[in-house]
Amino acid sequence: MPTFSVIDPATGEITGEAPDCSRAELDAVVAAARAAQPGWAARSVADRRDALLSIAGVIDANAVELARLVTREQGKPLPVAVAEVAGLSHWFRETAALDLPVTVNQDDAERRSVTEHVPLGVVAAITPWNYPLGQLSFKVGPALLAGNTVIVKPSTFTPLSSLRLGELLRGVLPDGVLTVVTGGDDLGPWLTRHPGIDKISFTGSTRTGRAVLAGAGATLTRVTLELGGNDPAIVLADADPDQVAEQLFWAAFSNAGQICLATKRLYLHTDVYDRIAARLVELAGSVVVGNGLDEGVQIGPVSNRRQYDTVAELFRDCQDKGYDILTGGPTEGFFFRPTLIGNPPEDARIVQEEQFGPILPLLRFDDVEDAITRANAIEYGLGASVWSADPDAALAVARRLEAGTVWVNEVMHLSPSVPFGGLKQSGIGVESGRAGLLEFTERRTVTVKH
Ligand code: NAD
Repeated sequence: MPTFSVIDPATGEITGEAPDCSRAELDAVVAAARAAQPGWAARSVADRRDALLSIAGVIDANAVELARLVTREQGKPLPVAVAEVAGLSHWFRETAALDLPVTVNQDDAERRSVTEHVPLGVVAAITPWNYPLGQLSFKVGPALLAGNTVIVKPSTFTPLSSLRLGELLRGVLPDGVLTVVTGGDDLGPWLTRHPGIDKISFTGSTRTGRAVLAGAGATLTRVTLELGGNDPAIVLADADPDQVAEQLFWAAFSNAGQICLATKRLYLHTDVYDRIAARLVELAGSVVVGNGLDEGVQIGPVSNRRQYDTVAELFRDCQDKGYDILTGGPTEGFFFRPTLIGNPPEDARIVQEEQFGPILPLLRFDDVEDAITRANAIEYGLGASVWSADPDAALAVARRLEAGTVWVNEVMHLSPSVPFGGLKQSGIGVESGRAGLLEFTERRTVTVKH
């Protein structure tokens, strides 16, 4: 079988080879998933819950191996990859505790009408490269619990950890219930336009999301789309710079800024701007950037050539326009020091575009109304945060922000019981929680006339 190479972004060396799935092989995988689905759906929910718990056990038992693979294909520091893997098993366990509701619409002498949630069939789970295993948390567990079979297609940049997980789960699930396919740029479109796919659960860029949605139109395939973001954080005048600066730093630079819900525009009230900016510059200068396998490293490289080019181009644009580069910039290979841009104009590319990397614009405001307007004046609506010593004042601002999740005095906190998703062009539908589970079902109403 032909393969393609996966590159370690820290060293440029080859981490491993992944199979390059052909169209005919994909057809066979989809056929096997279709064949397995009725049997899987016929099992009791309790049986499927047990399967999710078994999966969680296998993940925990192989956590170190899986985490090392994540670091070697994605670049993040090993302890962060360990946390990612622990999060995956945690999500499987918590998802196993969710239930599929049954609604009795009418139950009287005339008739009984009941609406239940039934599986869709075969789910295509398409993931990006920033959390190669973490992204599976929101898709595989709920899809399986609902009675679907699943075909996972990881990013071409980070297929190895998903492949390994698929291998480890071979004996745990019946054949065809969960399959991992890897391949080149054609594989995603083949999968999402395949007539044997009933539901696409896609996480990636808004641009690709639009293409997926257009393709799904031909067969009315159901979609959940988790797409790009350009999340604002708004820091009010009364926020304590000493308390919030470090949290804001990691809000922007965790995982080298490659998180959909990372803070990507930092609006600072003019009263706190200078103190917070100074502390952020200090932190940016002192954190350890390096190979994620090395002890003590806090930020790894940008994850792949394509993303590095995006970040480097935005950085060059800041240089060309003469913006105030407070600290940072590229070093070697795919490495970038945490980079801070001081108060660029609102229409700057670094403000308007999703950087998805370790470069952050700091934006000054005097009037909170102006900050809210600027924060909302964008096609994205994924996450946002508001920071203040006065929670009520922060809440009043939070409720006016156009985002699927708005945090007050924290950011990026997710939970298996809380749905999240994007407003505007950040997505369609939600993941996690009961609402996320129900995205993997259809409603069927059965009415019995007495
Ligand atoms: P991407 O859109 O390039 O790729 C995502 C996945 O889609 C990959 O598996 C890729 O191989 C596949 N793909 C590419 N073209 C396809 C096509 N035409 N049809 C079907 N599949 C296709 O995104 P990326 O660069 O891997 O990830 C970064 C983006 O993902 C950022 O914009 C980020 O904000 C977003 N993201 C969103 C969330 C969220 O929950 N909203 C989470 C993480 C990342």
